[in-house]
Amino acid sequence: MADLMGVVPGLKAAYEIARAAKDVNDQTRLNTAISEILEQLTSAQFGLLEMQQQHQQLLDENRQLREKVEKEERFECYRLERTRLGGYIMPLKEEYVSPDQPAHAICVHCREDGKRSVLAHYEYNYYCNSCKTSVHHTEIPSNPPSSTGDSWCTW
Ligand SMILES: [Zn+2]
Repeated sequence: MADLMGVVPGLKAAYEIARAAKDVNDQTRLNTAISEILEQLTSAQFGLLEMQQQHQQLLDENRQLREKVEKEERFECYRLERTRLGGYIMPLKEEYVSPDQPAHAICVHCREDGKRSVLAHYEYNYYCNSCKTSVHHTEIPSNPPSSTGDSWCTW
């Protein structure tokens, strides 16, 4: 993994070699120095390229995490509630109820998938139009016994 601490010494070494070679008149020693300098610069260049890639990768990760946090924040104004019949819904917390955002509840299943699905509120149940989950909150009364009895058997 490249970092600045790995790149800087290479550049410093190249500078030192160049400074030492400044007064050399021997062509062979000069050629050696030049090739050493080029080697150090090439290595530093690769290091910088790798750092650039890591930087881009970090920016991408940071963006993804921010999106995730923003998505989660949408659910902070809801709480988990158990209905009388044992189902679960997520009603809007009372402090967030306003004329622009009337009291409502969202679906627990959809919330797990990161979706904010408002539940339809019926007489006996809540219903999610997105995942088709039905959460009962009131018992459906059984049909009252017929007072007339079997109509085909009245004679
Ligand atoms: Zn749902």
